[in-house]
Amino acid sequence: MLSVVPTPVVVRAPSKVNLHLSVGDLRPDGFHELTTVFQALSLSDELSVVPAKTLSVRVRGDDARVVPTDSRNLVWKAAELLGHRVGREPSVEITIDKGIPVAGGMAGGSADAAATLVALNAMWHLDLSRDELDEVAAQLGSDVPFSLHGGTAVGTGRGEKLLPVLSRNSFHWVLALAKGGLQTPAVYNELDELRAKGDPPRLGGTEDLMHALASGDARALAPLLGNDLQAAAVSLMPQLRRTLRAGVTAGALAGIVSGSGPTCAFLCADADAAVSVSAELSGAGVCRTVRVASGPVPGARVVTSESIG
Ligand code: ATP
Repeated sequence: MLSVVPTPVVVRAPSKVNLHLSVGDLRPDGFHELTTVFQALSLSDELSVVPAKTLSVRVRGDDARVVPTDSRNLVWKAAELLGHRVGREPSVEITIDKGIPVAGGMAGGSADAAATLVALNAMWHLDLSRDELDEVAAQLGSDVPFSLHGGTAVGTGRGEKLLPVLSRNSFHWVLALAKGGLQTPAVYNELDELRAKGDPPRLGGTEDLMHALASGDARALAPLLGNDLQAAAVSLMPQLRRTLRAGVTAGALAGIVSGSGPTCAFLCADADAAVSVSAELSGAGVCRTVRVASGPVPGARVVTSESIG
């Protein structure tokens, strides 16, 4: 007998920061070869899915008005793709509560897509395996498989081929959300242009970073954070330089641009330090708003009514 899945099905999906993002040259298919170490953070989106007559999407939260609610939304694509794959009409109403900044380099759209797959897998009693969900996720976007998995992982290829990484302890982060977003393709184009004009330094390997993660030592991890897209993001939004400096002045161990930016992520020594860095950064006038987060956290997962907060 099928177990009853209560509706709405509510799924929480994490944001991510790239602890290491090394970008190779442009491939013939237009993508760049990446080696990246992702960490899933507690700053998250929540999706609520109920059966309906047709597919529809609603978005709530500070950034809601800049998120499309039609077939351009990744959750729409996820519902259609999964429906097509299993031979069902994706007749559901999806409500997204956005906690992750839009176009912020924290994989907000990917988190929502992963959450949709998890919600429909439960609501439709599909019982799809991890591998099957991964395959659908990878068709939706490079970061979607990681949003499903969460934790800390190395991604290669376009970032979609994942291997879990041993990471001890929680790390504490302060996130500086920018006024406005950056579109990921524009940041990659800018990097290609910077590389065509000169030869900006490129990140090395990830061996030391892996040791620091395994030891759970934030002080050892801090100097190893790196992002090849940072120079391109700063070139498109020069004010990020001030934000990065302000976070370190406020007491963070290190700051990096998250993914393609413009969110800046500051690693802090512990939870208390994160609260104090966030307070100081809020007053520095270098960003739209500040959030505290920790990681690693799990990937997209159904939350029960008791854990909805
Ligand atoms: P990444 O870190 O994966 O490169 P990002 O976090 O920088 O992505 P997103 O927030 O995923 O960027 O959004 C990029 C664009 O995708 C937005 O400008 C928006 O128009 C569109 N979009 C489609 N679906 C969503 C969604 N569910 N949430 C946010 N944006 C979405």
